[in-house]
Amino acid sequence: KLDLRSVTKSFGDNMVCRGIDLSVTEGEMVCLIGASGSGKSTLLRCINLLEPIDDGAILLDGVDISEPGLNPQPIRARIGIVFQSFNLFPHMTAAENVMLAPRRVLGKSRESLADPVRALFERFDLAHRMDHYPDQLSGGQQQRVAIIRALAMSPEIMLFDEITSALDPELVGDVLDVLRKLRAEGMTMILATHEMAFARELADKICFLDAGRILEEGPPETVFANPREARTRAFLKRVL
Ligand code: ATP
Ligand code: MG
Repeated sequence: KLDLRSVTKSFGDNMVCRGIDLSVTEGEMVCLIGASGSGKSTLLRCINLLEPIDDGAILLDGVDISEPGLNPQPIRARIGIVFQSFNLFPHMTAAENVMLAPRRVLGKSRESLADPVRALFERFDLAHRMDHYPDQLSGGQQQRVAIIRALAMSPEIMLFDEITSALDPELVGDVLDVLRKLRAEGMTMILATHEMAFARELADKICFLDAGRILEEGPPETVFANPREARTRAFLKRVL
């Protein structure tokens, strides 16, 4: 279980997270929506310890992981993150990209990884692309490899930052199908997304971020169909 308590983060005098409180329980899927610059990516980066927070706390199963000086590596193995840009290494095959972190961070051997990595590729219908290089894969396939790479660390929580935004429209569906599958398997997930129809379909909870605050949160039925705040209504009017 993940608990954010009053998380505050500034870049210079720009306060980007203004006291964010958020609880995510096991198997839950939370979608962060909000205008560009509202702080969605920054919040995900803070949770993954890619950015230090200024104030507040981030608790993972009750343990504060935001203490300065704490080794982020084991935490990042428990909380995976996937970005809009897939960032696969171009000189490595899909399978080699996926094995890299388990080898380097978890000290596993190629031999011991062969079967579980193949199983991951099979689970997401990409076994026939394992030995391809990124430039031999479509954007949608590359993004699915990036997701598999994060899953290879056996994370407890997955963070997704606009993972379909860089894709051609016809490739978006395949990547969303991967999320559907993870959702059905009970993965705990936090997504920043502009895919409102998808958020509405699958999220347990929608959080509308406005200028670094969660202005409104609730089940999709409520937030989309019957938003309480005028700013949420204005945002939805623009994007729906
Ligand atoms: P988008 O929908 O465009 O992805 P977002 O909600 O993800 O937007 P963030 O990327 O979190 O928004 O940015 C929030 C604010 O923080 C913006 O004003 C941005 O300029 C600022 N910001 C983000 N990262 C940095 C950084 N590394 N240094 C300085 N300012 C930053
Ligand atoms: Mg962003």
